[in-house]
Amino acid sequence: MACPLCGANTFVGSEKCDACGRSLMVQCENKRCNEKQYFLTDVCTACGKKIKHAEQQITDLRKGTM
Ligand SMILES: [Zn+2]
Ligand SMILES: [Zn+2]
Repeated sequence: MACPLCGANTFVGSEKCDACGRSLMVQCENKRCNEKQYFLTDVCTACGKKIKHAEQQITDLRKGTM
């Protein structure tokens, strides 16, 4: 699949992009959980909370780096 930040191919489930080195993980919104989740994950695998801002976090990352 394509890295959301640089567009290079990355392995599904890898924590960071091999090409740009940026993290593909987003943090769970649940402050008591704070687990890092893969950015395509809809629901936190640790606490079950919906990760609704995953795409927004990636968008913010993009803005900050390009
Ligand atoms: Zn990348
Ligand atoms: Zn969580």
